[in-house]
Amino acid sequence: MGPVSAPVVASAVLPLTSHPLQRAGAWAVAVLAGRESPGEVTVADLDAVAARVVDDVCAAALAGKDEAVYDWWKVLFALYPNSKPTHSKRTRDRAVMEEAVAALFAPDGADGAAHPCTFCGAPTPVVWTKSNLPMFDTSKALNTLPPGVPGWPVCRGCRVAVWALPYGAWVTAGSASVLSCESERAERAFAERNVLRARRVMQLGFGKLSAAARPELVAVRALLAVREELSATTLWTFKNDNQEPWLRVTSTRRALPRFLAVVQGNAPLRRGWRLLEVALTRRDKDGVVVAGGAAEAARLLFEAEDGRSRSLLWQLHHLLTQDAGRSWGARDRADLTRLAFTYAKEILGMEPDPTPVATVIADWIQHGSGNPRGRLAEYRNVALSDYKLGALLTQAHFRLVFDGRSAAAGPDDWAPLISQRPRAWEQRMLLAARVLELLQQRGVAVNAPPADEVERDREERLLEQPMLRDEDDDYDMGAA
Ligand SMILES: [Zn+2]
Repeated sequence: MGPVSAPVVASAVLPLTSHPLQRAGAWAVAVLAGRESPGEVTVADLDAVAARVVDDVCAAALAGKDEAVYDWWKVLFALYPNSKPTHSKRTRDRAVMEEAVAALFAPDGADGAAHPCTFCGAPTPVVWTKSNLPMFDTSKALNTLPPGVPGWPVCRGCRVAVWALPYGAWVTAGSASVLSCESERAERAFAERNVLRARRVMQLGFGKLSAAARPELVAVRALLAVREELSATTLWTFKNDNQEPWLRVTSTRRALPRFLAVVQGNAPLRRGWRLLEVALTRRDKDGVVVAGGAAEAARLLFEAEDGRSRSLLWQLHHLLTQDAGRSWGARDRADLTRLAFTYAKEILGMEPDPTPVATVIADWIQHGSGNPRGRLAEYRNVALSDYKLGALLTQAHFRLVFDGRSAAAGPDDWAPLISQRPRAWEQRMLLAARVLELLQQRGVAVNAPPADEVERDREERLLEQPMLRDEDDDYDMGAA
């Protein structure tokens, strides 16, 4: 090797980096090119994908506001708000627009100083600013840029990837969600589904797609499809707004695929999951689904970075313990309770046996003096509070012993439930599920009276449908 020769970088045509946006875009390019992975993408593939992106961007940029493809322009606007095709004063001349957009993806020239690509490190003379890069600072924020470079260097493969991003992301008219996952096959499956959806958005507009769909459902279905045993996922949802860009990060635990496989392979758990989905489905006054049960249930599997998200366990607790409105048959309650315990075991690694303590509470509710409904209400009120639950348990224990009954558990048994240790809250939720299950088994009325038989039959048929169904599948079957 000569002393002055530059290091030879055998860079891929399309690198797959760890940057979530570049990564999602690289998967989108691979899917659009019909390749298994970004590593297989050739220069000819990149040319073809870039040409398609140029076509779609121009069609969207020149569309009238009443055209379906105008919805794709809204997607582009949410991602690249100051770029040439999204600018409010953009040209209406197709040839001029095409030239401007195509120039974004032109092969790197050999002349000029090259800088390492912001995403993959390959040398490139092309420098982009925020207008073409979602979630990047403007060129005015000089201190966040490499010294002496008037923007962000981006190689050709990464430039195409960054604009293929909306095909591989789950998009709305104002935001995009991308998935990073330990399983590359699941990442590809997520992109694949979204590429199909992107085509539908361009052809039909958002108005013709299910308003109840959500990225969490697409992500969970992608995980299920590839049958991994363990795989953590992270969902990045963002808007690259001029004024207020935002980013929300949620993730799932590594054991999620195993949990889902257990649920799918077990009839009572599957039925419990469907009960949850049906309970979470919301319709407007015309009967149109505004919150899809499968999508809402999938959402409960994701935890927000700031801890401010509803958990599946909390939702099941809420459904099982709410007093009014819903009626659970003994089988419904058993299936939902089993789902809660399976989630605790597979996802949280908990295997508590709350039955002895639950028996003390159930005995007290059933046999204490006065009205069982009053005592049940009293228990419901304190079920999740460590201190108040402790007081109720002491009272119940005292009452049972005083009345000459045996108590199934004592203070040592419930100490872990009323402590401030991690997972005590979860244990109290599982305890409540078991208390209500015991009461229902004993014939103590714990919820609204059961619905009539016709209604029950209708609901039972609903429960037989597959879990985690994607409502947009209807379009695949030609229902559109
Ligand atoms: Zn690059």
